[in-house]
Amino acid sequence: MALTPMMQQYLEVKEDCRDCILFFRLGDFYEMFFEDAEIASKELELVLTGRECGLDKRAPMCGIPFHAANSYISRLVNKGYKIAICEQLEDPSASKGIVRRGIVKVITPGTYTDSSFLEENKNNYIMSLYMEKEKNMTALCFADVSTGDFNCTETSFDLSVVLDEISKYSPKEILIQENLDDEIIESIKERIQVTFSRLGEEFFLAKTEEVIAKQFANVKTNEYSAILLKCCGGLLKYVMETQKTSLNHINEFNYYSIVDYLSIDSNSRRNLELTESLREKSKKGSLLWVMDKTNTAMGGRQLRKWIEQPLIDKTSIQKRLDSVEEILSNMSIHEDLKDALKEIYDIERLVGKISSKSVNAKELIFLKNSIEKIPYVKNILGFFQSGLMADMYENLDELQDIYKLLDEAILESPSISVKEGNIIKEGYNKEVDEFKIAKAHGKEWIASLENSEREITGIKSLKVGYNKVFGYYIEITKSNLNSIPEGRYIRKQTLANAERFITPELKEMEEKILGAEEKLINLEYEIFVQVREEVEKHVDRMQKTAKTIAELDCLSSLAVIALENNYCKPKITNNEEVCIEEGRHPVVEKIIPSGSFVSNNININASDEQLLVITGPNMAGKSTYMRQVALIVIMAQIGSFVPAKAAKISVCDKIFTRIGASDDLASGKSTFMVEMWEVSNILKNATNKSLILLDEVGRGTSTYDGLSIAWAVVEYICNNKRLKCKTLFATHYHELTKLEGILEGVKNYSVSVKEIGSDIVFLRKIIRGGADQSYGIEVAKLAGLPDEVIRRAKDILNRIENESANDINIDQFTKTNTPITKEDSNCDLYLNRDAAISVNEQEDSKEKEIALDKLEDSQSISLDQVKKDSLINKEKLMSLDTNFEEKKKAADTNLSLQMDFGDIEKENLIKEITNIDILNMTPMDGFNKLYELIKRAKTL
Ligand code: ADP
Ligand code: MG
Repeated sequence: MALTPMMQQYLEVKEDCRDCILFFRLGDFYEMFFEDAEIASKELELVLTGRECGLDKRAPMCGIPFHAANSYISRLVNKGYKIAICEQLEDPSASKGIVRRGIVKVITPGTYTDSSFLEENKNNYIMSLYMEKEKNMTALCFADVSTGDFNCTETSFDLSVVLDEISKYSPKEILIQENLDDEIIESIKERIQVTFSRLGEEFFLAKTEEVIAKQFANVKTNEYSAILLKCCGGLLKYVMETQKTSLNHINEFNYYSIVDYLSIDSNSRRNLELTESLREKSKKGSLLWVMDKTNTAMGGRQLRKWIEQPLIDKTSIQKRLDSVEEILSNMSIHEDLKDALKEIYDIERLVGKISSKSVNAKELIFLKNSIEKIPYVKNILGFFQSGLMADMYENLDELQDIYKLLDEAILESPSISVKEGNIIKEGYNKEVDEFKIAKAHGKEWIASLENSEREITGIKSLKVGYNKVFGYYIEITKSNLNSIPEGRYIRKQTLANAERFITPELKEMEEKILGAEEKLINLEYEIFVQVREEVEKHVDRMQKTAKTIAELDCLSSLAVIALENNYCKPKITNNEEVCIEEGRHPVVEKIIPSGSFVSNNININASDEQLLVITGPNMAGKSTYMRQVALIVIMAQIGSFVPAKAAKISVCDKIFTRIGASDDLASGKSTFMVEMWEVSNILKNATNKSLILLDEVGRGTSTYDGLSIAWAVVEYICNNKRLKCKTLFATHYHELTKLEGILEGVKNYSVSVKEIGSDIVFLRKIIRGGADQSYGIEVAKLAGLPDEVIRRAKDILNRIENESANDINIDQFTKTNTPITKEDSNCDLYLNRDAAISVNEQEDSKEKEIALDKLEDSQSISLDQVKKDSLINKEKLMSLDTNFEEKKKAADTNLSLQMDFGDIEKENLIKEITNIDILNMTPMDGFNKLYELIKRAKTL
């Protein structure tokens, strides 16, 4: 059997978009076939039917009406699918044989621009990632097709930096090289939900330079590296191929350097809940939630960017702070400003629509109404003197020429469809006016016809009407038919109770009216396109104005939160000191009952108060305190006032947080190894300008291991000159408080609690000195554990304490412990892993030896040092224990389990084999699984 011609056409089109769901236009429907139909029917809950296609079996099919396509498309895009829209390219009634069809647009998660379905306050980024291991280089490019935002940067071949940058933008789609390592892809997938589009090497190579030069008039391509050009050019080409329209609004090539902004790694972003809460992943409960009081969509997106990218340049931070201060001191003007901002639509996305030619007349009116407010905003800006505001005033383009054009040309409330007329204002175009008059005149004539015919015929119920099939007619009820003068009317249609007639004059007038109407519609569309094209010439000017409005809106938002929440202006310094008086946690203070948050001070620097060991019972407020310090620093570097009475903040270059394994509930994979991986990342990357928060590090393993590691990490941070940075270390290992006085810079603090009888009350005040008790049982009591259990627990505790003849004598080994002094340490697990991989890859035995040496080198430093130290410490601790041999054995297994990643792999493999459900597998699946397992076993 042969395929039907339509199916042949379908399959040909499908060949060009195999990774997309093909929406194939048939009349008023988009139909999907075969696998696409199966996916779409499941995802969109559509009925799956079939269609004869010339083969034995009917082709699975489902469809949606074309006018409802947008919402279906948005649902599929949100689920990460790509959709190719195939339209009829000629009028079916005019074509012979099968109608020509072709793909007019490909909609992908990263290039989706339908603003009715996009989140208003969030950019929708597509990213291109290009990595070259041999050259140790990576290029990254991020673009938002709906707004024209285009950013790119370069770094070394360092996955952790790449992941941090990705989590900053959280793109919806990533373009990658065909042969990019699966491991890299997996690491990205672990962090964000994203669609990957693999592109062949030639896609990144061919003509990329020309594409960039053409898109960005003032970019000199010879100033950028080849890899960056490949990356950006690849992205541009992909967007062009999918959108199939002009991209005039992507005109600013924003090349930035990662080190220009405060570096916050992806885990810390998550832990500090900058833009979404840990648990619910919602804006509520995040820093953004507290800080976003913007009035425009553009401002909302900009503020999110400010939070994702706090500054490190003192002058720029100061400028924002001064502007906020000035706004705050002009409250009534600020009120006017907010009111004006509320009236401004999303100019950025409107401009995107103009550029992609999808804008309608109504949206042009939104643009006009927004521009109308600009002179007023400029006027308000004129009242301010501070640097940023003065610059904005100076450079704000009021776009009045565009306002004038739109005001003259487009009706105040035009039709939504651009092909129905009712768009152009009277007085803008003579011809339009003439057609309008002709149309109106004809309608008047027809309106008077009813009266004159009634008079002539004497039929009072005579009516003049219109329908689409017969046009204008005169309707006379059956009972009056006799009264019609002979030969006056021509019969046209018979109804149950009436007859419809026409006259030659009526038809003549009808032609005039309909002719005028058709011409009018076409002409109005033509003029609309001219107006749109004229406006499109000024895309870059409108974007600049939009950007200024967005930034002004952000500053206004910062002023609002400062006033509403009683924040103070931080003093920005460069002396490595963070000194906060009566600081509060910006988010927690909003969530708990108003006024109940207990403020706390901090004074931390890179010398005598460098590493604060914070102890205190569970639930006392240690984590909250540490996060509040980080958030206040971040807010200050955004240029915001901060929740405190007074603050002196030295600009940090990087902020790291490590939240102990068992606190890290949200990720669901809080293994001890992940914890160590992150700690090693911190130790490798922190500088003495960084801020480190370590929350219960070591908690994910046995007490002795954990304590030893925590101990060694503290020493490493304090003794290593490259590090020696502001560090907060919350821990339940009271033993760590012994380090004060031994290690320079270590100071003990604790969160105070008050004992009342056998109960405790949390005071939440940070005080000098370590906590003397852990109050675990009291906290358990607060949590409502049965009295019997509490009594028994106390009993056991007493017994253990009394019998502790083998008590650990920490002092004994603090004195003998040798601090780490090696400065140039490096303990990146990636590096170790890379080295390990390269050992596996070496064919030549000589090279293998060198690689092995390298591996040993890389492991022998830092993390290995930490590991070694933890071993030394552990042995010392163990030697004080009666059950020495037994515990040592257990701890050794434990340690080797945690430290030897190969073993973990083995463990996983064994687990996987144990879990194979052989009875529910086909022989083929079983064979494939076995093959996979053998392959994996060989790599161990
Ligand atoms: P820890 O880390 O010591 O176990 P958390 O920082 O998680 O304690 O704090 C536990 C709870 O105590 C928080 O969820 C918060 O509601 C409350 N809390 C913490 N700090 C304060 C404070 N300074 N003022 C008021 N409530 C606080
Ligand atoms: Mg905690």
